[in-house]
Amino acid sequence: MVGTSSQNLSTSVKFLKGIGEKRAERLCEVGVESIHDLLYYFPRRYLDRSHINKVKDLKENMTATVVGKVQFCGIKQGRRKRFVLVLFDGTGFLSGVWFHRAEYWNKIFEKGETIAFSGKVGYFGEYQMVHPEFDKLSDDGENDFLNTGRIIPLYPSSESLGKVGMDSRGFRRVIKVALKSYSHELRDSLPRDILKRQELIDLRQAIENVHFPKDKDFLRTARKRLKFDELFYLELMLAYRKKSVEIKRKGIEFLKVGERTKKLIESLPFELTAAQKKVIREIRDDMKKDSPMNRLLQGDVGSGKTIVALICMMMSIENGYQGALMAPTEILAEQHYLTIQNLLEELGIKVVLLVGAQRKSEREEVLRCIKEGEAEIVVGTHALIQEGVEFKQLGLVVVDEQHRFGVMQRATLIEKGLTPDVLVMTATPIPRTLSLTLYGDLDFSIIDELPPGRKPIKTHWRSDKKRSEIYKFTKEKIEEGAQVYIVFPLIEESERIDLKAAIENYENLKEGIFSNYSVGLLHGRMKSAEKEEVMSQFKAGEIQILVSTTVIEVGVDVPNATIMIVENAERFGLPQMHQLRGRVGRGEKESYCFLIATYPISEEAKTRLSTLAETNDGFKIAEVDLQIRGPGEFFGTRQHGLPELRIADIVKDTELLLKARDEAFDLARKNKQILNTENMPARVQFFKNYRDKMELSRVG
Ligand code: ADP
Ligand code: MG
Repeated sequence: MVGTSSQNLSTSVKFLKGIGEKRAERLCEVGVESIHDLLYYFPRRYLDRSHINKVKDLKENMTATVVGKVQFCGIKQGRRKRFVLVLFDGTGFLSGVWFHRAEYWNKIFEKGETIAFSGKVGYFGEYQMVHPEFDKLSDDGENDFLNTGRIIPLYPSSESLGKVGMDSRGFRRVIKVALKSYSHELRDSLPRDILKRQELIDLRQAIENVHFPKDKDFLRTARKRLKFDELFYLELMLAYRKKSVEIKRKGIEFLKVGERTKKLIESLPFELTAAQKKVIREIRDDMKKDSPMNRLLQGDVGSGKTIVALICMMMSIENGYQGALMAPTEILAEQHYLTIQNLLEELGIKVVLLVGAQRKSEREEVLRCIKEGEAEIVVGTHALIQEGVEFKQLGLVVVDEQHRFGVMQRATLIEKGLTPDVLVMTATPIPRTLSLTLYGDLDFSIIDELPPGRKPIKTHWRSDKKRSEIYKFTKEKIEEGAQVYIVFPLIEESERIDLKAAIENYENLKEGIFSNYSVGLLHGRMKSAEKEEVMSQFKAGEIQILVSTTVIEVGVDVPNATIMIVENAERFGLPQMHQLRGRVGRGEKESYCFLIATYPISEEAKTRLSTLAETNDGFKIAEVDLQIRGPGEFFGTRQHGLPELRIADIVKDTELLLKARDEAFDLARKNKQILNTENMPARVQFFKNYRDKMELSRVG
């Protein structure tokens, strides 16, 4: 919980006048246990004169808020039983209609009460809102707020809370009491100089005004202060995390860039792009330092992250350390292994592969190589960090596509007693200010350029009725030498059914429409030797059509594959489809992606599909995804152990976020031990709460 706490503020709300045992129990359900929690239970929005529409000004389909007195309320029978409530606001009548649970609503309202309705306006001879959002105003002047210019806070509530009188009005009542008796207990914990620099009002004033604002300006400054608080402590946590990694652990200084690296670069069939060179320089500079590197490498699908990773691992090798590359799936690990081995064979560098599904004898040999240092580069899945894997001298760990990697897994790797440099690669482009929040404790390198000659992938969103046309087109392309992916969805919850469907489809395609071609199957349940076999056949062009589940989502690299058909595309998430599509368009030939949707589909799915059809730009796609899913889902906030924000919005409040970040990192720089700093008397509590999260997500 952000904010301060004193003995009194931690008093249970049940002792507050007007609450008691029963209400306290219900309040618990929304996380309100202490007075402090109650004071930090913020309004969901506010009502003031400027928000209110008069009935005479209403228009059909507009979204409006109307305040009036209840003229009539009751159940109406008819074609459909419903509860109807008619408001009069001095200029006209507006009715609210509820079609479900009429009896319940009938108990909630009374004639003569003052109510605010919000919702979309309909017109059926009279103005009407169906299932409007409503708030009751109380008699103590609230219902006169149009004349007095008051701003009324509207609180989030629930049916369970409403039943014990804790609707929005109930919250206003008890919060008013709490403020009166306790707001003087609030201790400001932000250092004074920060308050001054950032022109922030003090905490008590902010809390009072966020609930009962004196006017609009006070409300704005109050919200700004509280948002700053949240963002500041969030960033401080990240700063602390970063710092503690730097303080506690001395890392390796990689100073040499040797002959073998030069040879590798010369042997590449292409010239590195300027963006690749730039990030390699950044990473090398970081690796030279004696503090352990903790860096995020971002680059859109196909931007060439693998070779960058390899060149960085070479740096480790040249300095006498091993390099490890961790991939999220076996297929991807195998593929990286093959690519890297190919490139390094000439240079006499030993590369080994470690995945879960290896034969015991094979595994033991690999483990021995790793332990004795014979293997200079180790490629694998999370099998790399399991027990029994011992490195001779691990220098650099590259984690590919980390959003699939649990926080724990990275932590475990570092727990192995080593302090390797860590490079995390991700193809999920994240708007920069947002990544500051999520990966605030990491340094960044961004490959912002694709290798030359890439053509944008032509993406079409089609109904499943068009499938035969797509197949016809596909056949023509295969005749010209193209290879094809056909992908079926597979999600955890319905894995068995999905897998069965994919296999059946594979058989139908193989025996039916594509019987003249060689069709292969790839899915996560196959043995790794089988997968390897299929992949290498596809790479060699022996398989023309690869039917697969989403195992190919990340990393698979077969430049001759230029057609991607995604079945049930409405079921895929946006980043996932972007990743999938990234499997084609890797060479210089024109590539195509067909997103086949089975109708009916949701509005959200339509947005996803049309976005992909419109753009190949990973950043734009990420932004749309962020809008659709919100920051919590987008980042998997919980997984990352970041606290939930109650008032700040990392998407909308980026400017404030940047300021909060500067202040927090500045403070962390100045104070060796943030926990004990004199500046922060009240922060002990905060860090107690977040300690565990910090430990866990240190490297996440
Ligand atoms: P991603 O960033 O998606 O992991 P990869 O590392 O798999 O991308 O690279 C995609 C493809 O581009 C690979 O076939 C790789 O060999 C090729 N590639 C990488 N860098 C360059 C470059 N500078 N010029 C041309 N092709 C490149
Ligand atoms: Mg990759």
